[in-house]
Amino acid sequence: MQIKGIRGFKDILPGEVEKWQLVESEARRIFGLFGFSEFRIPLLERTELFARSIGEATDIVGKEMYTFLDRDGDSLTLRPEATASIVRAYLEHGLNQKNPVGKYYFVGPMFRYERPQKGRYRQFHQIDAEVLGVQEAWADAEILVMLMRYLEALGIENLSLQINSLGCPQCRPPYKKEIQTFLQTRRNLLCEDCQRRLETNPLRIFDCKNEDCQAALTEAPEVLSFLCPECRNHFERVKTLLDDLRLSYAVNPRMVRGLDYYTRTAFEVVAGELGAQNAVSGGGRYDALAEEIGGPAVPGIGFAIGMERLIMLLPGKRSLARHPQIFLATLGDKARRRGFSLAQELRDNGIWAEVDYEEKSLKSQMRQADRMKTPLVLILGEEELKKNQVIIRNMATKVQEEIPLGEIIRIVENKSKQ
Ligand code: ATP
Ligand code: MG
Repeated sequence: MQIKGIRGFKDILPGEVEKWQLVESEARRIFGLFGFSEFRIPLLERTELFARSIGEATDIVGKEMYTFLDRDGDSLTLRPEATASIVRAYLEHGLNQKNPVGKYYFVGPMFRYERPQKGRYRQFHQIDAEVLGVQEAWADAEILVMLMRYLEALGIENLSLQINSLGCPQCRPPYKKEIQTFLQTRRNLLCEDCQRRLETNPLRIFDCKNEDCQAALTEAPEVLSFLCPECRNHFERVKTLLDDLRLSYAVNPRMVRGLDYYTRTAFEVVAGELGAQNAVSGGGRYDALAEEIGGPAVPGIGFAIGMERLIMLLPGKRSLARHPQIFLATLGDKARRRGFSLAQELRDNGIWAEVDYEEKSLKSQMRQADRMKTPLVLILGEEELKKNQVIIRNMATKVQEEIPLGEIIRIVENKSKQ
């Protein structure tokens, strides 16, 4: 039987990959304007890193991680997200001592054992950005404007930026209790998962897709009315700075995030077009994360964009595929060998040239040039070779001209510019 790929793990083929290259290069360009440097982290980490940061009672750690024992019995996990690894590496290399403010981005695959469906895979990709070392609202406003400018630069429209504040270790526990008490009396309305969450992680119930669970929460108290004065000021400041930047947003007091480490600002970018999996990006502040993994106190804020969902939102069906600038159709062994070297001379001069490898007829070489969508074909036979001439054919106008062999690079360069 022919071996197939694994469910939830997608191949990205030429024709599609150009979109990936586009969103990556645009991220590098825009994030560069904000002073972010690229960070690369390993695929594997100790399981403990995610258990302690993301939280034992989250869906990610509870049921979505690819965890295994390696040969010496250490429990390792394929990274389900980037923030914990970046903070781990940042502390491990003492970057906090070298520079009080770290601005980093990351691009790469993540692994979560979820039910594969549209917009949800087991290997998916994220573009991630993090600001470490800044507690003040400047960082929140700046990373949000960077995220939205990036999405705009890709031509993605109809996005909604939703923000909320989740409070801090002082004000969140009383709120959590309040929600628990509120839902105790409505327990029988909740789905099985949420009945369990009621004990372990009641705020996650806000995130449940089940309509009955949402109905049970209709009159639930809102986190914003539980914020301590510091958290309230911080959130007000974030909103003021976003207003200064004229960045539109909506406060969504029912938005919680699926990771335990978030404190204060949390946000999501939602696209109606995406259907059920509508969050293209999510993120927030995580001022206690560094300490949770055993380091000093380092505040931070970041976002992750789901690249598969991002690419679904790219406008237009225009193909980004590249095409060769010229195809060399040759006839007879001498001309073939000359053409083969000539193609190399063209490439050495920065011109993408293609040749036929199968010694096919002129007719089928022309068909191949057509399939490759090259604008120019160079025709070289024994006759032309004797005269030191080649024929160059414009595939759109079908006009052919004879030109001196020695002029070929200059002429192709000029024609490619037109
Ligand atoms: P969701 O609510 O869709 O499960 P999440 O809260 O688990 O998302 P995060 O952990 O915040 O997502 O990850 C950030 C982004 O990564 C999401 O907004 C989404 O675009 C993308 N993402 C998360 N899980 C997947 C997945 N299994 N497949 C594809 N993209 C994903
Ligand atoms: Mg999820």
